[in-house]
Amino acid sequence: MDVTPILDSLNDAQRTAVAAPSEPLLVIAGAGSGKTRVLTHRAAWLIDVEGISPQSLLAVTFTNKAAAEMRHRIENLLNMPASNLWVGTFHGLAHRLLRRHWREAKLPQSFQIIDSDDQLRLLKRLFKSLNLDDSSFAPRDVQYFINAQKDEGLRPQHIDDGGDETRRQLISLYQSYQEICDRGGLLDFAELLLRAHELWRDNPAVLEHYQARFRHLLVDEFQDTNAIQYAWLRLLAGKTGVLFAVGDDDQSIYRWRGARVEHIYRFQKDFPTASIVKLEQNYRSTSTILNAANAVIANNSSRMGKNLWTDGKDGEPIRVYSAFNERDEAEFIVGRLRDWSEQGHARTDAAILYRSNAQSRVLEEALMNARIPYRVYGGLRFFERQEIKDALAYLRLVSNRDDDSAFERVVNRPTRGIGARTVEAIRAYGRDNSCSMWRAAGAISSDALAGRGAKSIVAFMSLVERIARESEPLDLAGKVDHVIQQSGLIEFFRKEKGEKGETRIENLEELVSAARGFNPDIAEEGMSELDGFLAHAALEAGEGQADAWEDCVQLMTMHSAKGLEFPLVIMCGLEDGLFPHQRSLNDMSGLEEERRLCYVGITRARQLLYLTHAEQRRLHGMDSYAQKSRFIGEIPAELVEEIRPKVQVSRPVSPSPALRHKSDRTSLRAGSAADIGVRLGQRVRHAKFGDGVILNCEGHGAHARVEVNFESAGSKWLVLSYANLDLM
Ligand code: ATP
Ligand code: MG
Repeated sequence: MDVTPILDSLNDAQRTAVAAPSEPLLVIAGAGSGKTRVLTHRAAWLIDVEGISPQSLLAVTFTNKAAAEMRHRIENLLNMPASNLWVGTFHGLAHRLLRRHWREAKLPQSFQIIDSDDQLRLLKRLFKSLNLDDSSFAPRDVQYFINAQKDEGLRPQHIDDGGDETRRQLISLYQSYQEICDRGGLLDFAELLLRAHELWRDNPAVLEHYQARFRHLLVDEFQDTNAIQYAWLRLLAGKTGVLFAVGDDDQSIYRWRGARVEHIYRFQKDFPTASIVKLEQNYRSTSTILNAANAVIANNSSRMGKNLWTDGKDGEPIRVYSAFNERDEAEFIVGRLRDWSEQGHARTDAAILYRSNAQSRVLEEALMNARIPYRVYGGLRFFERQEIKDALAYLRLVSNRDDDSAFERVVNRPTRGIGARTVEAIRAYGRDNSCSMWRAAGAISSDALAGRGAKSIVAFMSLVERIARESEPLDLAGKVDHVIQQSGLIEFFRKEKGEKGETRIENLEELVSAARGFNPDIAEEGMSELDGFLAHAALEAGEGQADAWEDCVQLMTMHSAKGLEFPLVIMCGLEDGLFPHQRSLNDMSGLEEERRLCYVGITRARQLLYLTHAEQRRLHGMDSYAQKSRFIGEIPAELVEEIRPKVQVSRPVSPSPALRHKSDRTSLRAGSAADIGVRLGQRVRHAKFGDGVILNCEGHGAHARVEVNFESAGSKWLVLSYANLDLM
């Protein structure tokens, strides 16, 4: 066997890992050092050189996108399709397993996955039905509690309340929530993992089957596995499975979701024969970018410590832009993206990274105005949009009438005169008789519900039955189309005024094309195409956007950028309080996690890196002033080039047309800024207060006043004719 193609493009340390004997192995290395590359080559090596069947491999990646890429790379290396290769995310693999073994997992065959939005709605309804609205915690707290327990592998009966009343209540809510889910065959994301673990734990025959099959387990981003994922891997590995894990302790960014970097330290204890390989050469970034990343992460105290170097070029300096507000920041970014395209680069090679999803809206508006195509990963993804979820809920009912979450969503959508009281009566009956809402509605619609409510319920139920019957012989796209047409959703949204309704209808039509383009091969065996599609919608929400058919800029949070790389990266909103996040400012371990996130962000960049921050920002409807992020200050000055806003004394900053309708004080006053000869965002110097930036102005002539945010003295209103400001 000629082994060169697989080892050719690797350095010595990488080769050692790829060609290692069949023993547990851990690769610990910094960003961009080729961990994912090693994992992919290892898979190819095992199949091609060691003669191991692709069937015996299980590979876990961090995103569906990474999984698709891994499959693709392996197929390329092997020069053949590898369809029976199990590669996916923890959630995707758990789902696959549960579809195959729904009976042993004690699930109905047509179980459905609910996302965190559905989960929260379900909890809100539970709160209502138990009259908990004034309790000391909110549905969101309960959601957090439940998921945290599940991530640790705990069921309500395993949790000790320690005599604490609040805790006792939380546990009992977890119990009630789980009963509702079990009744409707609904699985939240954490439940997928927990069930898959219990499936193996409680069914030795099933476990043995998979232990015998999967001899080699390959795990990427190992530092971010949580307790249940790690337990799952250990069960599968048993005594003889070979675990090959790659990770970077400096990129552990999911502690808040139960991830435990400690698994890296436990690895050698749990697998005593394991060896460790370190990779130190970075192949991704220019040395300027790499040095910046190294300098930032060096401020963390709890680290394993690594030495990362590159023999790449210095490259361009890191450019830091101080915007005066979030719209100025967005305009600056648009400008850089224009330059990038004009230089002949592909837009897909450029990424805008932010700390919080809410930041994307302003960026999206600016990009839309500038007609720059873009794609948002995460955030409001296609499958998470209201109208799409409505249509999916009908489809879910067609597949499984006992799906309470779907029932509640569309029982009165479009409006058909079914009020909250009627729904509550159905819910109460379901609770008292331990049956689904669909059954409850059927049982009581004839007698217990009075008048209009009862009639409408019967009408709703026969509508669903009719749609189910009529769509039975249709193919998937036909089914989706039929549901959209017959459910009344189209007319419902047509009545919605303006562009919004139109967009919703377009989105519904897009759902039919999504169904048409759905690849039934990715549905699990024994699963209907419709259920396959619904599972896909829940699991891969938005990631489907990855197959960009159009050349477009990529927008995502720093969290979802993990593992990816882009020639141009723009990190925005680098302000203390936003990034690092407010919650972490007074908490050492929280701050270190934010710093690791910053390290992840910086190391996504290959050639060019921009960091932007705004002196004033409106987010969640509130204005705030912030200092630039301490992380910028941690980058050695010689690697940075500061870009100041251009000074244009007399031209007003005109708000872009799409923004004009917003009642935004700053933009409304922009006109008067020009009248009095200043510019918002302009830098000024005051004899006493020092340097600052003009944020606001009002009045005319001798009464004109400006608000200046001074670097050391804070924000002040000054009468322009007395203040003697120097324009800089
Ligand atoms: P991260 O920690 O961000 O996930 P990583 O360690 O997984 O990074 P990879 O994504 O595997 O790193 O590799 C980073 C880049 O370096 C990729 O573009 C990869 O193709 C390239 N690369 C890795 N090893 C080599 C090598 N030996 N020769 C040339 N290029 C390499
Ligand atoms: Mg990687």
